[in-house]
Amino acid sequence: MTDHYAVFGHPISHSKSPLIHTAFAEQTDQDMSYLAIEAPLGDFAGTWREFVAQGGRGANVTVPFKEEAHRLCDHISERARRAGAVNTLLLADDGTTHGDTTDGPGLVADLRRNNVRLEGARVLLLGAGGAVRGVLEPLLAERPAALFLANRTAAKASALAADFNDLGAISGGGFEAVTGQFDLVINGTSASLSGDLPPLPEALFTEGGVAYDMMYSAEPTVFMRWAEAQGARAIDGLGMLVGQAAESFLQWRGRQPDVEPVLATLRQQLG
Ligand code: NDP
Repeated sequence: MTDHYAVFGHPISHSKSPLIHTAFAEQTDQDMSYLAIEAPLGDFAGTWREFVAQGGRGANVTVPFKEEAHRLCDHISERARRAGAVNTLLLADDGTTHGDTTDGPGLVADLRRNNVRLEGARVLLLGAGGAVRGVLEPLLAERPAALFLANRTAAKASALAADFNDLGAISGGGFEAVTGQFDLVINGTSASLSGDLPPLPEALFTEGGVAYDMMYSAEPTVFMRWAEAQGARAIDGLGMLVGQAAESFLQWRGRQPDVEPVLATLRQQLG
């Protein structure tokens, strides 16, 4: 019998998740469907219950339902609890709903795929919104030597760092508080969406340093271009997108898909 999955959002027509999961299902020979569904605002729990009643086994959840999805779960992973948001729902055999957030594992997997070392590294993470909150637990689990969180609104970065400081060497502040050099600078702000560059000092990267922009587009982002001019290697967030999908797929189907061919297809489509 075909198992049903979907991504819920509002809007949702832009989503690449159906393409990604359909490709994963073909690769691993899974009898499943995966649709993009625009859910009405206001009662996401009701939407999920209806989907389950019609044979739904799991879902991805995107803007603006990640917090509502978090609240409806019977069981929640530690990283989703810390993130306060869920992007993956799974219906267990006993009928309970499990929630997780796979953005962080997707980011860590993509960094690993790109041979970026996290253990012992000095990491600068820009931003303090939902995406950054979601990746902090998996990043700190890789034991960087230090992680500095810098945000336009400094108080948000300080508060977020305080929430996670039981997990590792993390501190936070405004962009003006950024000092020293970093092995890895991750842009988790939405500045690239509007072509803006967070105000960063020159000589920010160590020798062989890496810049990672969570955003992706056909052309390198302004942050990536700036980092390359500073001598860093720049990577965009397309691999994080495919990586988070692979982690969700693994949880639903127990099979680890190969991200490389799917990433190549998406890259070609972007171009
Ligand atoms: P939020 O709206 O929750 O947070 C936005 C953050 O960006 C805030 O920290 C905000 O600072 C900062 N910001 C916005 N504009 C500027 C600017 N012009 N200069 C400096 N800082 C700015 O967004 P999300 O956290 O959900 O998303 C952030 C980015 O991550 C987006 O580009 C999104 O596309 C990307 N993303 C990519 C994923 C992937 O799979 N590749 C997954 C999830 C997200 P302040 O607090 O001061 O307002």
